[in-house]
Amino acid sequence: MIDFRSDTVTVPTPAMREAMAAAEVGDDVYGEDPTVNALERRAAEMVGMEASLFVSSGTQGNLLALLTHCGRGDEYIAGQRAHCYRSEAGGAAALGGIQPQPLDFAPDGTLPLDAVRAAIKPGDDFHYARSRLLCLENTQGGRVLPLDYLAEAETLARDLGLARHLDGARLFNAAVALGVEASRITRHFDTVSVCLSKGLGAPAGTMLCGPRGFVDEARRLRKMVGGAMRQIGILAAAGLHVLEHHVERLAGDHANAERLGEGFEGIEELGFDGREVHTNMVFVDMDERWRDELREHFRSSGILISSRNPVRFVTHLDIDEAGIDEAVARCKAFFARNR
Ligand SMILES: *Cc1c(COP(=O)(O)O)cnc(C)c1O
Repeated sequence: MIDFRSDTVTVPTPAMREAMAAAEVGDDVYGEDPTVNALERRAAEMVGMEASLFVSSGTQGNLLALLTHCGRGDEYIAGQRAHCYRSEAGGAAALGGIQPQPLDFAPDGTLPLDAVRAAIKPGDDFHYARSRLLCLENTQGGRVLPLDYLAEAETLARDLGLARHLDGARLFNAAVALGVEASRITRHFDTVSVCLSKGLGAPAGTMLCGPRGFVDEARRLRKMVGGAMRQIGILAAAGLHVLEHHVERLAGDHANAERLGEGFEGIEELGFDGREVHTNMVFVDMDERWRDELREHFRSSGILISSRNPVRFVTHLDIDEAGIDEAVARCKAFFARNR
């Protein structure tokens, strides 16, 4: 199977499984799992922050960040299509009494700063929720936020007294695409959550990183939501392994996405513009007339794509160049037959 639906579908490599099998473990609720402790130190170091916490998922990482930064009746500003607003089951509102202030993303994945400024509630007026936190997402829909934008966003947030959280589920895709250390991006934020289970290819886990006091409070809240686990070094070993071995290789996923985009550009019916490929995602707006048929055609040749439109093709650890070429060839064959 060539599975383009998401970079979450990867399975652990043999080397990763070996690292997992050999992991030293202990009770992490007692703080005694040496592999978890090593992972938390390493992740914090890689993003240039004081401490980090191993959590079950990106959703849990964002939830704990929101609960830590904001109290009941506080407000966070995020994208209308941001994962932490739209795709996390309303956790911040349901569990924290935290009000979202969603704003439209600009086409480049940024939140326009004049809109952010305009959305902030006057702190001295009791009519309003308290604006506390600005959440950005990087990458956003496969796009990398420009570094100078991050600097401007930081300045604005500091001026207005907002904390800054980055949903960096795919932080390392952004760093590799820019050719910079991840810390070059995260230095504009107070806190960041980074998924080990997306492009990096671990079976589970997210690192929530920030100052020591923030991480201590997030650890308490992780317990509250039932996210404290015991001999979890088996999973942490996979996390350490991917931080060590799967960051640089993301460049190959980006090259494969570009190759796919180039292939699609050569198919007239798709009307695809290859300049729209930035990291490991290719979005194709598919005509309703043949969308379902094409998906079926792909499926019958062992290629999986999602049913949403635009169709998102995501490249990852388990798709190689040959898989890309196969997909392009199948797509060409489909249109040649239906022309
Ligand atoms: C996948 C994703 C998350 C959540 O991660 P899960 O591990 O699936 O809960 C958060 N933010 C973004 C941008 C994501 O893509």
